Order: sequence, then C-alpha cells, then structure tokens
Amino acid sequence: MYLDNVLKMVKDKNSNEPEFLQAVYEVLTSLKPVIEKHPEFEKQALLERIAEPERLIMFRVPWVDDNGNVQVNRGFRIQFNGAIGPYKGGLRFHPSVNQSIMKFLAFEQCFKNALTGLPIGGGKGGSDFDPKGKSDMEIMRFCQSFMSELYKHIGQDVDVPAGDIGVGAREIGYMFGQYRKLRNAYEAGVLTGKGLEYGGSLARTEATGYGLIYFMREMLKANNLDIKGKTVIISGSGNVAIYACEKAQEYGAKVVAMSDSNGCIYDADGIKLDVVKQIKEVERGRIKEYANRVSGSVYKEDTDCRNIWKIKADIALPCATQNEINLEDAKTLVANGVMAVGEGANMPTNIEAIEYFLEKGVLLAPAKAANAGGVATSALEMSQNSMRYSWTFEEVDKKLDDIMTNIFKACQKSAEEYGLGTNYVAGANIAAFDKISKAMIAQGII
Ligand code: NDP
Repeated sequence: MYLDNVLKMVKDKNSNEPEFLQAVYEVLTSLKPVIEKHPEFEKQALLERIAEPERLIMFRVPWVDDNGNVQVNRGFRIQFNGAIGPYKGGLRFHPSVNQSIMKFLAFEQCFKNALTGLPIGGGKGGSDFDPKGKSDMEIMRFCQSFMSELYKHIGQDVDVPAGDIGVGAREIGYMFGQYRKLRNAYEAGVLTGKGLEYGGSLARTEATGYGLIYFMREMLKANNLDIKGKTVIISGSGNVAIYACEKAQEYGAKVVAMSDSNGCIYDADGIKLDVVKQIKEVERGRIKEYANRVSGSVYKEDTDCRNIWKIKADIALPCATQNEINLEDAKTLVANGVMAVGEGANMPTNIEAIEYFLEKGVLLAPAKAANAGGVATSALEMSQNSMRYSWTFEEVDKKLDDIMTNIFKACQKSAEEYGLGTNYVAGANIAAFDKISKAMIAQGII
C-alpha cells in the first residue's frame, strides 16, 4: 500500500518525465520485500525522500560558433542524494538531454555509487549540446561557458562531475582549465577523468568497460559458466564499448559486432579492436568505416539502432544508451540463444525486456552494479588527488577488479537473502538501498 501510494505520488509529480519514472518504478518495485519488512520507512517518508532530488540546477549556456553566431544550450546539474558522500556522477553532452534523462541518470547514480562501497553520493549533469561535427575551438568555448556557471555549484568536497556520453578527456580538460582559472586554485579533485599529466588516474579510461567484464566473469562463474570461447555482441563503440571489448577479447571471448548511432558492423572473424580505436578514438569517425578497412566484415545501416540484437550471440553487452533493448529485441536475443546480458550503458534494457530475460533464465548484470567500475575508479582518482600521489595501472586495475567482485557478491547476497535466485537486478537495488537508507535515517529528516 505504502509503495503503491509513493509510486502514484511520484507519477503525478513527474508525469512528463518518462525515463525518470521508469528508473524509479524499476527500483522501488524491486524493493517491495524490503519495504514490507520495515514498516517504519513509511513514517520516515523514506521512499518519498529517496525519489526527490536534493537540488536541481538548470542554466543557460551561451557560446559563439566558428561563424560568429551566438548559440544557446541548456545546462543541468542534478544533486540527487548526498547522504553517503559528495555528489558524484558524469556530464552528458547529447542533443537528447532533458530534465527527465538527467533525473533518471542521477537517481540511478545514487544506487550505483552506494554499491561501490566508496563514500560518494549521487548526481548527474550535462547539456543538450551536440558535440558531433563541432570544431575543437567550438568544443572549448562551449565547455568554458558551461563551466562558468557550473563552477558555483561543485567542488572536491561538494560535487565531483566526470565524463559520460559526449564528454571525454578533451572536454574534461577544457572544463578543468576554466574551473582552475575561475577559482584561482588547483583543486584537482573537482573533476575526474582528467588527463594523466594533471591529476588523472591510470586505468580510468578502461575502468567502466573492464569493470563490466569483471562483473560478468563473476556472474558467470557463480553459475558455472565461463566467458572464454563465447560469442559476444556489443552495442556502441564509445568508451564503455571499446574497453569491454578489449577485456572480453583478453578473456578469450569472440566479439563479432559493434555499432554507433548510424549502424552496426559484423565481423565473423572477431572485431579488430585497433581499427575501431583508430576510427573512434583518433579520427572521431563513424563505425561504417570499419567495413571499408577490414575485408570480410559487413556494415548495416540502422536508423533505430536495433539491428545488432538480431545477430546470434551467447552474451549481449548493451553499451550505447538508455532503452536500446525492448521486448522485441529481448525475444530475438533469447530465440538466438543468448545466456547473459551485461548492461554497460545506463538503463539500456526497458522494463518489459528485463522481465522477459528474468523469466527466461537469462543472467542479467544490471547497469547500477555492472557499470559501476567507472565511478569507482573516479573515486580512486579522488583519493589519489587527496594524497597527491599516483598508483600504477596494475594497482588501480587490481582495486577495480576487487570492487567489481565485491559488488557482484553484494548483489548475489541480497538476492539470496530475499529468495530471489539469480535476480541480480533486484539484488543490486536492495544492496544499494540498504546502505543509502541507513545513512539517511541516521542523519534525520533533512
Ligand atoms: P561515448 O560517447 O564514448 O559512446 C557512446 C556510444 O554509444 C557511441 O558509439 C554512440 O554512437 C552510441 N550512442 C549514443 N547515443 C546513442 C543513441 N541514441 N543510439 C544509438 N547509439 C548511441 O559514451 P560512453 O561509452 O561513455 O557511454 C555509453 C553508456 O555507458 C551511456 O549510457 C553512459 O551513461 C554509460 N556509462 C558510461 C560510463 C563511463 O565511464 N564513460 C560509466 C557508467 C555508465 P555515436 O558515436 O554515433 O554517437
């Protein structure tokens, strides 16, 4: 009853925010057994508080393009929950960015960050700015304008942004430069994902993709399976997709397909990752180019980005964006024999598709847990900045591996405790909620 009332209240209050409602519904419904065990939550209005951001900042970002025209974008920072540490979460630059997408990402981030075991609260931000096709100078001017407002709201003990879609090392560099100029202080810990020359951490670039595969390894192991020899398809060809591919290949899997927002490539002999890196990381080009450079591979244009899920595979790794797997895609994947799905992107599987996978016994590694390696390594970057010291690649990678292994164990333990079998989706939500709710209750009604 309490849960139903809260879901209704959240729906009424945020009726024009479908992605946010989807994220809240997915988490809160999976907490049902926990809520039933704790009637005191209702008196504390705990769920109402957990579904309401602590602060939402929206601002104008004016900048001048190369033709001298003034452009105006909208900037966001959502500081969702700071109960267990400074707000932490990436910045997304993509034309689809709006308040609903920002809030869903910030909400999810709170749970993800709690799972890492590190002292970080949840936030997210970004802009509807489209970096595609912009010159380097346009990117710099945009980043400077964006930071000219954002700097008032962040700080190494307050809120620590990082990258996400459309925000990589180049953008973080420009934003850090502007922050440093405005603050007249070298506060390295204010942003993560920085270049190695000015406070970045080794292995941060690789962390989300590698972490996804470490989680997948543990999940398969717990079910007497192994990634070695498996056929894998990966959507996207950005930061998460590239490094998930690298680690999966290192573990002996055969990755046969990758994609971008225009289409997907299929290479029956296994994707040549050095070619993808050259196209995407160096040339900032389109994945289509791969088929021109690697004989025997094929490219398929794809306006709704779903062709990749028609390719037969044992393991599917959605690493592009939200809601990229719907029920129809899930049915195709299952019919083609998929045994495990690992969410590298945030909320890539819609609710019907999640339910279908679970019903069919597909092992599902949920984003909050499986892609937490990026933010965990960002927190390790913050630690190194505080210590004014750098760990080696191997040291950071080992810590990342340990964190991902512990996250899997926490999901498994919660799922077992509530008799949920291999439902790691609910397991992740319950384990994260346990930590956040205890911290919120301890701190009183604030
Ligand atoms: P990148 O910008 O590096 O890459 C994104 C990739 O996904 C690109 O190949 C892009 O294609 C594709 N893509 C983006 N939007 C769409 C769309 N609407 N339809 C189809 N394809 C799309 O981003 P990341 O790799 O950093 O992020 C990918 C996902 O992982 C996001 O959901 C992000 O929130 C999540 N994530 C990222 C973390 C990180 O550390 N980077 C940490 C945790 C989660 P194109 O080049 O054509 O735009």
